[in-house]
Amino acid sequence: MSIKFDKIEPGMILLDIHSYRMGNSTMRELGLWRVLGIDPTKIKYTFVIDTDTYSGNFERPIFSFITGMSESCGERAYATYEAEAARKALKIKGEYAAGPLDELVEERIRDPGDDGYHRSYVSITVTPGFYNVHGEHFPAAYSGKFKKQSNCSDCKEGKPAEQHRKWPAYQSVAIFLRRRPTDEEIKLIKTRALAYKDFPRQHEWDARPNIIGFRLVVSTTTHESETL
Ligand SMILES: [Zn+2]
Repeated sequence: MSIKFDKIEPGMILLDIHSYRMGNSTMRELGLWRVLGIDPTKIKYTFVIDTDTYSGNFERPIFSFITGMSESCGERAYATYEAEAARKALKIKGEYAAGPLDELVEERIRDPGDDGYHRSYVSITVTPGFYNVHGEHFPAAYSGKFKKQSNCSDCKEGKPAEQHRKWPAYQSVAIFLRRRPTDEEIKLIKTRALAYKDFPRQHEWDARPNIIGFRLVVSTTTHESETL
C-alpha cells in the first residue's frame, strides 16, 4: 500500500485491504483493517531551512528576521535587532500588532536537559546530505582529510574518512507550525529567509549562511503495542 503523505488530511482514516486466511483453514477472504486513524491534533508541521553552515549560531536571528517575532526566556529577549528589521519590512505597526506569520507559527515545549524545559518557536535540526567530524561540517561525498584532533581515537589510529566516526550535521533551522502553511505563507518565509544573506550584520561574528533548500516536514504520531 503506498500513501502519499502530503495527501493526508486531518481526520482521514487509512485502510489496508488485503486477502487473509480464514481461521485454521486454507480458505482466503478479503479483509479490511483499520490501520491508522489520524488524530488531527497529532499532525505536526515543521518548516525546515537547510543551509551550508552550523545553525546553532543563527537559528533564532533568522527566525526573527523571517517572522518579526522574538523569542524570550525570562527577562531576556533574543534577536530583537532582527525582529525589529522584519517588523519594518513586513509593515507591522506597533509592538502589539500581529504579523502575517503570528498565527501560523507555534511555540513548542522543548526539554534541553538539566536547565529544565522551555518554550520555543525554533530549533536547530539535522541536514540530510552532510556530516560532521569533530565540529567541522562536510558534504556526504567528502572523503578527504580532517583536521586532526588529539583526543579522537580515530585520528590517533589514522583512520581514513570512510572509516572515521561521523556525527550528524546540524545546519538546518526548524520552525514549528500550527498547521500546513498556505502557498502564500511558504513564499513569504522563503523570500524572507533568502533576504537574510544580505541583512547587515550587527556583530562581526553574525552568520549569514547560504541557503541550500527548504522542506516541509509532516509528522504524525501513531501508537503500536508489542507484546514482549
Ligand atoms: Zn578524529
